[in-house]
Amino acid sequence: MAQLYFSPMLLGICLLLSIALCATALYWMAPNESGPGFWMAGTWTLILGVALFIGFVLTRSPVLNVLGNAAQLAGEALFLLGIFHFMRRPLPWWLIPVSVGAMVIANIHYWLVHGNSNLLMGIYSSIAGLLPIQAIWVLFRDRSDPATRPARLLVGCSLVLYCATTLWRGALGYYDWWDQALYKQPYESFSYLLSYNFAIPALVLGFLGCSLMTTQRVLARSHRLAAQLQEQATRDPLTGVLNRRAFHQALVAEVIRSQRYGRPLCLAMFDLDRFKQLNDDLGHLGGDDALQHFSHLCQQQARRTDTFARFGGEEFVLLMPETDADQAQLLLERIRLTLAEQQFSYQDRHYRMAVSIGFAELSSNGSPDQLLRQADLALYQAKEAGRNQVRLWMAPASMAY
Ligand code: GH3
Ligand code: MG
Ligand code: MG
Repeated sequence: MAQLYFSPMLLGICLLLSIALCATALYWMAPNESGPGFWMAGTWTLILGVALFIGFVLTRSPVLNVLGNAAQLAGEALFLLGIFHFMRRPLPWWLIPVSVGAMVIANIHYWLVHGNSNLLMGIYSSIAGLLPIQAIWVLFRDRSDPATRPARLLVGCSLVLYCATTLWRGALGYYDWWDQALYKQPYESFSYLLSYNFAIPALVLGFLGCSLMTTQRVLARSHRLAAQLQEQATRDPLTGVLNRRAFHQALVAEVIRSQRYGRPLCLAMFDLDRFKQLNDDLGHLGGDDALQHFSHLCQQQARRTDTFARFGGEEFVLLMPETDADQAQLLLERIRLTLAEQQFSYQDRHYRMAVSIGFAELSSNGSPDQLLRQADLALYQAKEAGRNQVRLWMAPASMAY
């Protein structure tokens, strides 16, 4: 035991124990993510294997030797399966029976014929060192998930380091076998300590990368969710344009900006004419289709600096910064005419639409709500005057002239 204490083996085991505990914590924190379950199972199986192997070193029991080596390889293979699972690749389950089976056969043969332990160690290290090659290939080649790529490269590089040291250890084993070197206790052997000094730290680094890629995936998903919620909170689901609440925010900001810099600002309100009738003729879904057509047409005609939104039902609004009443009149007339001239169709039925438009220009001391009220009043006047027309709101005093 004293030798164990003074060799890096104990530190290696403690490191393995730490990553097993962290893998367990990761699994509990993100149970639905693909990968952590395998990493947890893999690291605990690896620790079981190392514990059995230490039991063998202390007792020289062949059974503990065979089971220890088999469990270590099974743990490593399980850990690697987690990487395939994380990347949504088919799982190469064959890694477990092939690696464990080959090792068990070699190990039993060693005990039956009193074989060479350096050769056995060479075989074990060759299997352990070759196991991650497929996972490394996938980690470096896969480009499907850019959010997790930096962490995946870290895992890939760690596995390369793991492979290199483990295969080197195997080569030393073969060399000692060829050289007929005397057997050394694991805690005295240069080749054994290679794995504790380098391969296990590489595994720790690899696990750190696995935790990072899981975190990056969770973060990317929560960003997408937040963006989706933001979209739902600000957009009208039928037409995809801004909703009333989002429009109001834009209006308040634009009113402040226009008044601060003394720039013109116009607001128009649209209400489709006799839309109830259209709904009756085409059905509600046909009406929805017409609303989408109208919204599309307005977006095409408006400028990129304008803000178009659905105010509710078949009412829409258009905010036109840097636009005085004359310019707004031209744009709105163009929208009204384009709509009136166009023929639409829904399920082989042709129909036409018309729109009444009221608009107002912001005064130097006007407020957003006042501007909305004025545009609404002008819209009411357009309806009263027979529909399918554009009306500018006029202050009562100026109307007296
Ligand atoms: P007016 O010319 O006076 O505006 O007549 P109108 O028939 O358009 O009257 P009003 O503006 O009051 O009617 C709005 C109709 O729009 C009532 C409702 O059935 C319909 N509507 C509101 N929202 C939707 C919607 O999301 N989809 C569909 N298909 N119809 C809607
Ligand atoms: Mg209406
Ligand atoms: Mg209407």
